[in-house]
Amino acid sequence: MSRPVQARRLEGIDKNIWVEFVKLAATYSKVNLGQGFPDFPPPDFLTEAFTRALGGQNHMLHQYTRAFGHPPLVTVLAQFFKKLLGRDLDPMTNVMVTVGAYQALFCCFQALVDEGDEVIIIEPFFDCYEPMVRMAGGTPVFVPLRPNPPKDGKLMSSADWQLDPAELASKFSERTKAIVLNSPNNPLGKVFSRGELGLIAELCVKHDVLCISDEVYEWLVYDGKQHIRIASLQGMWDRTVTVGSAGKTFSVTGWKVGWVVGPDRLLQHLRTVHQNSVYHCATIAQEAVAQGFQRELRLYGKPESYFVQLPKELQQKRDWLVQSLDGVGMKPIIPEGTYFLVADISQFKSDVPDVPNSDEPYDYRFAKWMIKSKGLAAIPLSAFYSEAHKNNYTNFIRFCFAKVRYVAALRKARLRLIIRAGLMREMLRRNAGCLGHWSPTMASQLEQPLLQTHELSWGQQMCQGHPKLCPISILHFLAKEGTL
Ligand code: PMP
Ligand code: GLN
Repeated sequence: MSRPVQARRLEGIDKNIWVEFVKLAATYSKVNLGQGFPDFPPPDFLTEAFTRALGGQNHMLHQYTRAFGHPPLVTVLAQFFKKLLGRDLDPMTNVMVTVGAYQALFCCFQALVDEGDEVIIIEPFFDCYEPMVRMAGGTPVFVPLRPNPPKDGKLMSSADWQLDPAELASKFSERTKAIVLNSPNNPLGKVFSRGELGLIAELCVKHDVLCISDEVYEWLVYDGKQHIRIASLQGMWDRTVTVGSAGKTFSVTGWKVGWVVGPDRLLQHLRTVHQNSVYHCATIAQEAVAQGFQRELRLYGKPESYFVQLPKELQQKRDWLVQSLDGVGMKPIIPEGTYFLVADISQFKSDVPDVPNSDEPYDYRFAKWMIKSKGLAAIPLSAFYSEAHKNNYTNFIRFCFAKVRYVAALRKARLRLIIRAGLMREMLRRNAGCLGHWSPTMASQLEQPLLQTHELSWGQQMCQGHPKLCPISILHFLAKEGTL
């Protein structure tokens, strides 16, 4: 066949960071803090609901259900979002179930964006927004969150990354059809404040622009922060589609159940895309997610609620990773939400071998070097930027901290090191040398909170005779040794 086989709409979007890094991680990594998924099991109530649906009396759960969402699921989602948004919702017209948040986003762009429309995307952004806008024939217009490091020498927080209001306003024009908002934001973990959302809302109303609000990490917010839904702001319900994911909500990313919530005037067009593409999502998974939401509705705000417990557990993991990374000289940016953490790797430039004749950015080279030679996987931050702005953000990588294997690896490493305690003690006696900028004072300052976490209680017992064998020195030691 001599004529081109590839449709023009696919030009320039063939590369995908997940395809590339999932393969690298599978080949080389011992500890995968790259792709965002929990490596711990989902809650029992959810897997039990799935098993009941699979083996129970109702054999119709093995067949098609309603195309736009299994009735029990859209019903409970409408009840839940009524609580969250403070408005009555019709399960049949204000909610639609999708194959994960990915398909929800795809439906939004296909249904709402036309040739020549502009779509504003806030950088850094979850990578699929840009190709999805382009596939719909739209033009992405990027506006960055700009970092303002604190002056007092404290660690940066994701809240220190902010939009410049004038710059944001300058991106809106009569060509703008929609803005994509992602709060809590992947990759930074930024949770947009009421003020920031108010500014976006005001511009949307002023320019009659739609808002595609990706809120898949809505339950993962820390330090008592509140996740505010932009659809609840004045003038926004009618122009907002809110996207959610059971994968993130219930730690079941492989189930691929997502949803959209919004006004019928927008959702009717998403239904047209859905009925002419995937048509329908797996019934059993929808049934189990429905039961999960029914439980959470009963326990709303109570300590037993999974939506209360999961962020608590993740916050502990976040804090622990912050301390570990800080201890080895990778400056972490403390995330207010999500299960991602971005860290500054600018201090490691001399460790990473140069690749001759390569124009690969430093963060890609660093991440690949770390996977291949240290067995530790993370994602380069510039993957979350447009081509034009990538080069300004090559000093960072993103870690996913929804992982328990990281802790297990440290435990194993600790055992190895305990066996080699003679060598370790000698290094400690000389106070540094091969431990680089590690110092016993630093370790003892940081050791206590680390050893308080339940994951490390085993290590604590093992280390009683060797209090200096804290995770920080171990992480650093392993990095130097090439065993991690
Ligand atoms: N949006 C964001 C911001 C994400 O990080 C992800 C990745 N899970 C998705 C959407 C897609 O979610 P799902 O796995 O439910 O398709
Ligand atoms: N959302 C997840 C992440 O950001 C996974 C994305 C994917 O695998 N396509 O890591």
